Amino acid sequence: MKIAFIAHDKEKDDIVDFVKRYKDVFKDHEIFATGTTGKLISDMTGIKVHRFLSGPMGGDQQIGSKVAQGEMDMVIFLRDPLTAQPHEPDISALLRICDVHCVPLATNLGSAEIFAKALRR
Ligand code: PGA
Repeated sequence: MKIAFIAHDKEKDDIVDFVKRYKDVFKDHEIFATGTTGKLISDMTGIKVHRFLSGPMGGDQQIGSKVAQGEMDMVIFLRDPLTAQPHEPDISALLRICDVHCVPLATNLGSAEIFAKALRR
């Protein structure tokens, strides 16, 4: 499967920890991510990551475009619900396009865990 990861700054430690815990699962899939998230995942876990631009520079839109074209199967997006983001319109657009195309979307660690466990089965 093609899986995209995005984490806002305060969630980056959590996403690295999450991918490490499920490395056995994610190593068998094609992994994509926004710029900084992707670099961290790749540096800290050794998993190969196709990196898009950083979120505020258009990375969320690039992932949204893949979703719209049927080229992304799952999105794991650890959002920071307590901090305003300059690229809020891009974030809303990505969430919307996942819903339009029924692409599984996890926006917090709880749902991300369920997705990872489902992939492991
Ligand atoms: P980043 O982008 O992975 O480049 O930090 C994510 C975001 O902040 O939207």
